[in-house]
Amino acid sequence: MMNKEALFGKTLEELKGVVKELKFPGFVAKQLVDWLYKKKVGSFDDMLNISKKNREVLKARFEVGLSTYSNVQESIDGTKKYLFKTVSDQYIEAAYIPSENRKTLCVSSQVGCKMGCLFCMTGKQGFQKNLTAGEILNQMVSINEKDELTNLVYMGMGEPMDNIDEVLKSLEIITSEWGFAWSPRRVNVSTIGVIPAMRRFIEESDCHLAISMHAALNEQRKELMPIENVYSIENVVNVLREYDFGRQRRISFEYIMFSGVNDSKMHAEALVKLINGLKARVNLIKFHPIPNSPLKGCSDEVMEKFKQILENKGVTTTVRKSRGEDIYAACGLLSTKKLVETSK
Ligand code: SF4
Repeated sequence: MMNKEALFGKTLEELKGVVKELKFPGFVAKQLVDWLYKKKVGSFDDMLNISKKNREVLKARFEVGLSTYSNVQESIDGTKKYLFKTVSDQYIEAAYIPSENRKTLCVSSQVGCKMGCLFCMTGKQGFQKNLTAGEILNQMVSINEKDELTNLVYMGMGEPMDNIDEVLKSLEIITSEWGFAWSPRRVNVSTIGVIPAMRRFIEESDCHLAISMHAALNEQRKELMPIENVYSIENVVNVLREYDFGRQRRISFEYIMFSGVNDSKMHAEALVKLINGLKARVNLIKFHPIPNSPLKGCSDEVMEKFKQILENKGVTTTVRKSRGEDIYAACGLLSTKKLVETSK
């Protein structure tokens, strides 16, 4: 049986189009966004101010489009990994990361990923499909902690800029007054530097941007991240220099530290030189070894030393705490390969 088209994930403009096509009064579009994004109901029967007749018409053509998670695992540190089944019977994961003053959800934007970064389990899974805006947002509204979330990061499975249309649509719904009405400052979207889509993101949204750098030197980054052959990190940084991000909007560089690969004084100095003059911060991330990879993580001491070099040159630097490693919810560990294989 064919799945019906989902309404959850459509923008106000798109819902106006649906209402017009169904010959409903124009105000029904506003009623629909209220039910979908303010009250977040899962059934047309709950949309009480829409006439019963119109609800039946909606039911015949559409589904609301919310779905619950399939599984949840909890780490000893309180991190939770949620598993969701998409409409095409493939699986994605979202990681809920609570800390003292933040409750962050890390969402996926694709099933798998085609970018092939050497250190990433999702990359090893290959690309299966782009998520719709509704599937991205469903991760936010269907977890147990949905009412506690303070922050959202697009750093789960997939490269958000490789699915830019649906990612921008989901951001419009999250940050619009008619949608979830979140401040864009609560949302951070990561990219490895797909320049054309990154430009659209910078120009069409106000959310924070995190660049996955991981190496400042061209030849070395090529070995870790094939994207360097197409969009070099130098060009990515030069594009960032063209924009005024204002005082509120944050640019950060994510830098996973690999023992003996990108962790020396020379590497730290190359990083400083590359981002010189840019108002940005650097997050140093501990690497979690993945199966069949020669890469290893650095010790805390090495990371601290690297941080000191950056800080001494005036670069605001944070060493990120590792979260959810025991349940494979940590950075670069999200993968649903086994599930994808068994669901075929
Ligand atoms: Fe894709 Fe990001 Fe993994 Fe690279 S690090 S393969 S872009 S999910």
